[in-house]
Amino acid sequence: MKKEIRIFSPGTVSNVSCGFDVLGFCLDHIGDEMVVRTTTQKGISITKIEGYDLPYETKKNVAGVSALALVNDFQPDFGFEIEIYKRIKPGSGIGSSAASAAGSVFAINELLGKPYNKTQLTQFAMKGEAVASQSEHADNLAPAIFGGFVLVKSLKPLEILNLPTPDELYAVIIHPQIEIKTAEARAILPKEIPMQDAISQWSNLGSLVHALHTSDYELLKRSLYDAVVEPYRSQLIPHFEDVKQAVLDAGALGFGISGSGPSMFAITKGEKSAKMVEIAMRKVYQSSNIQFETYLSKINKEGIKTLS
Ligand code: ADP
Repeated sequence: MKKEIRIFSPGTVSNVSCGFDVLGFCLDHIGDEMVVRTTTQKGISITKIEGYDLPYETKKNVAGVSALALVNDFQPDFGFEIEIYKRIKPGSGIGSSAASAAGSVFAINELLGKPYNKTQLTQFAMKGEAVASQSEHADNLAPAIFGGFVLVKSLKPLEILNLPTPDELYAVIIHPQIEIKTAEARAILPKEIPMQDAISQWSNLGSLVHALHTSDYELLKRSLYDAVVEPYRSQLIPHFEDVKQAVLDAGALGFGISGSGPSMFAITKGEKSAKMVEIAMRKVYQSSNIQFETYLSKINKEGIKTLS
């Protein structure tokens, strides 16, 4: 049995436009690395964290909590220690906690000889995510574990649909260095929505799923709208409308808030278009006094992977 594994756990975009709370996708090369090794002592310990200041206490770190959920079920007569090399800034809106929560269970499952399938791993990882967000959700975890575009059809029972990802899809992310409190992002949402907005949302989500199945980039472009959440949450993100206009003018297929922000994402057809879009979004923020970073990534169909 392998005693040590190094993995790459990617960042993810959730709340993809009309797929609020159900649709996400996985990024490439933007993510954390983790090393997990077996220990003779039972239980889970976190022995190293680099990059950001996060809790070492197993029950406070999402990677520890999800790992505990798995070992409580499997009951191995040995334990695991976890090292986290964190590159995704916590609270950025591109699934920092999900990368850790999914990474630990993926790595342990590999070391145990893969007793669990991807849906079961997502279920364990949801216990970890709950530590960061106070509720169990899977819309960042499932894309990290499955790769590509993923629809979380239901949480109870957990049902995840791995959708096809057209080959030429790229994502460009802009992360303004501001903090949006999750509580504020939640509070700003309406409790009820007009019927007309609901109709537009399910029509767009249906056509988006169809566009992914048929690699229809034009239909994808006509589907990437969010009538329900974006009008409210975008108010919390400086220059949202300016960036949106700039990236659409530069040829993006769609644009929206990543997770609950402050990061925003654009989807493009091809790398050349992605580069143009990245330039356009940078230009808008360069004229503000807010620090920011951008990332360009092919949509990652593979998800978490073993490095060694
Ligand atoms: P994100 O969407 O980027 O994951 P969240 O606000 O959902 O951001 O989660 C970040 C919160 O989770 C922070 O309060 C952070 O301290 C906590 N947390 C605990 N363990 C981890 C971890 N291993 N990686 C990232 N965040 C963690």
